[in-house]
Amino acid sequence: MLKRIKRGTLGAARKTGVLSFARQTLWRRRRLLILGYHGISTADEHLWDPELYIPPELLRERFSALRDGGYAVLPLGEAITRLYNGSLPPRAVALTFDDGSVDFHSMALPLLQEFGFPATVYLTSYYCVHQRPVFTTALRYILWKSQDRTFETTGLTAKGKSFRLASASERDAAFVAVRHHCVKQGLTGRDKDDVLVETAARVGFDYKDMLRRRLLHLMSPDEVAELPRDLVDVQLHTHRHRVPTDAGAFEQEIVENRTIIASLTSAQDATHFCYPSGVTHPSFPERLGRLGVKSATTCFPGLASAASKPMMLPRLIDTLATSALEFESWLSGVSALLPRRVIRAHAVG
Ligand SMILES: [Zn+2]
Repeated sequence: MLKRIKRGTLGAARKTGVLSFARQTLWRRRRLLILGYHGISTADEHLWDPELYIPPELLRERFSALRDGGYAVLPLGEAITRLYNGSLPPRAVALTFDDGSVDFHSMALPLLQEFGFPATVYLTSYYCVHQRPVFTTALRYILWKSQDRTFETTGLTAKGKSFRLASASERDAAFVAVRHHCVKQGLTGRDKDDVLVETAARVGFDYKDMLRRRLLHLMSPDEVAELPRDLVDVQLHTHRHRVPTDAGAFEQEIVENRTIIASLTSAQDATHFCYPSGVTHPSFPERLGRLGVKSATTCFPGLASAASKPMMLPRLIDTLATSALEFESWLSGVSALLPRRVIRAHAVG
């Protein structure tokens, strides 16, 4: 119901020229829209998880909308400096891609080069250094691809059980049970890769093919190192994609992540951060500030203004669920003015 009202409101706004008027206002000029993306499909990833993956055709449509609407796509660091010193150009936008998946390199980078748009990659470094599929996403994907099978979990969960993978709720339950068991056993990344191998064998999934295609992998150190510096900057997203509440462990995540990024990019210290999975905590902004971090983006949708807290910047996570009209409304700024309860929040890792 709310969605229908929203669609009607936005449709009327487009028809009456409100969207094109809004994007030219002083209000919009004083604001920055930070867009967030995760993966770009190489095959069927967006059918598996449309919150995490979009098909490359959709990214092209979004980039076309940015170009055709005359939006100024700025490097994130420059955009944030100009947000706070009041020198943003009209219709300012910054592009960010979370995690640093290998499909950023193969699918998004060619589009960025074609359109001449700069972007920031928030790199989580563990699976960059360890070139195996990211455990949680790979486990969910393997179970999704094996819907005609039953998954018998003896040895992989606390109590062995058979899960019918045709059922979405049983797939979720199997995923939670296996992951929980891994955490409880304190398994390392290597151990968890063995869990994926065993799971794949039990459900008849071709894991070697996944490795060959580097599906759900992050960019390798060489791929990060060869990103064009004039177009892509690499920033902080923690080493293991987590933000511990313990201060020492939190700092370790940032320092390790920053050290690896510096070694791969020969750039000075990375100073922009994105909260993994959008998880925030009142203690984090101060800790980040002490570590020399200048900005941190969230998954709270909105446009940033000079009044926004730099360690709690709003960001629109653009997914398959965002219609072209909604996207255009966010670019123009109109969506930010709609009642908060009408706007759907996305918070994915
Ligand atoms: Zn992430």
